[in-house]
Amino acid sequence: NLSEKLERSLKLLKGEGKITELNIAETLKDVRRALLDADVNYKTAKTFVDNVKDKAMGQNVLNAVKPGQMMIKIVHDELTELMGGATTDINIKNNPSIILIAGLQGSGKTTFTGKLANLLKTKRGKNPLLIAGDVYRPAAINQLQVLGQQVGVTVYTEEGSKDPVSIAKNGIKMAKDKGHDLIIIDTAGRLAIDEQMMDEIAAVKKAVNPNEILFVVDSMTGQDAVNTAKEFNDRLDFDGVVLTKLDGDTRGGAALSIRSVVNKPIKFVGTGEKLDALDVFHPSRMADRILGMGDIVSLVERAQEQFDAEEARKLQKKIAKNQFSFNDFLSQIQQIKKMGNLKDLAGMIPGMGKMMKDIDIDDNAFKSVEAIIYAMTPAERETPELINGSRRKRIADGSGTSIQEVNRLLKQFEDTRKMMKMMTGAGGKNMARMMGN
Ligand code: GDP
Ligand code: MG
Repeated sequence: NLSEKLERSLKLLKGEGKITELNIAETLKDVRRALLDADVNYKTAKTFVDNVKDKAMGQNVLNAVKPGQMMIKIVHDELTELMGGATTDINIKNNPSIILIAGLQGSGKTTFTGKLANLLKTKRGKNPLLIAGDVYRPAAINQLQVLGQQVGVTVYTEEGSKDPVSIAKNGIKMAKDKGHDLIIIDTAGRLAIDEQMMDEIAAVKKAVNPNEILFVVDSMTGQDAVNTAKEFNDRLDFDGVVLTKLDGDTRGGAALSIRSVVNKPIKFVGTGEKLDALDVFHPSRMADRILGMGDIVSLVERAQEQFDAEEARKLQKKIAKNQFSFNDFLSQIQQIKKMGNLKDLAGMIPGMGKMMKDIDIDDNAFKSVEAIIYAMTPAERETPELINGSRRKRIADGSGTSIQEVNRLLKQFEDTRKMMKMMTGAGGKNMARMMGN
């Protein structure tokens, strides 16, 4: 698949190994082929590769400190552009706004209808009415009713009716009477493109003149997703795409291809069966996913921004002389906090995101540590050896913690100091280099 191919061709550049003009050219050729194989159209792929090449030359990748990183970032940025650059909102300014949902059977339309109602109700203060327009499967009507109940929104249904156009019209009339400011129309799909289905949804579109038509597609169907998107777009000229089932193994190559083939923005991604498993689509995050590297690019950027090389050198000296103090410790904590929420940071490391989901760490993790350090006198911070029993009691009281907590911190600090000392010398230099020196 696309991401694997891209990853393979970028692997070469990933380390800090030698990069030459020749292997950049080779890599770009692979990237281009990978894009073409994923049905990104010829012109788009060519523009993509040309842009990457221009940027690489412009920023003089060959002479950069970390050419591999830089290349990946350029490709990443270009992928982001290819998927539309920025996030595109849905049009819900009208009162009522009408959203029509289209797509094949099983793509996730009904689920998405429920998720979208939930999102717009809770996050944007809307009062949605859902219309059950799938007239072929009684179970589908029931499914929407259950979702409506879970979200706490009204669902309009017509038992026994086989006419989606009149159901939609009647539903809209009721929504207006009852003062709903948003209407979402769920429709019937087929297992494959079929004329009757297309005629039917086109008729609903004509009758209700929706403000927004969203095409829902299962991202796991790969190549078919692209073809389906094209057919639906030719017929409906939809406004946006919803990629569902991105919680699976798919890495999102479909996002690239669909965007490139139909030239319509992807607006949402479904990431699970539950009601809250819906995300607004961010091209940049999808580019991360396609490159299979978590949000590593922004992690590197942020770390470099925040890390002062001069500071690092000073610190190294102190560690070597065993002079690392609580003041230094405090400024380390400040550094880490400047980099943003810890959980966010952890989530940017590939593979860590899932692990961290259940662990509750945030800036508060440092609160009591900071409080304890602040309760020390400057002399105590510089020379922790001073801190005897009565001082510990005073510090615990002053910081609103307990003696046990103070003891624990002192012990941890002592251990850290020992470890740091051990790591200086060759190791210390490596550490500094790692941080972008
Ligand atoms: P419809 O026929 O287009 O209305 O599709 P449904 O909404 O009935 O969804 C078909 C199946 O896909 C159901 O079992 C859903 O629970 C499941 N589904 C929908 N969206 C997602 C998603 O984002 N992730 C996962 N894992 N399953 C989904
Ligand atoms: Mg359905």
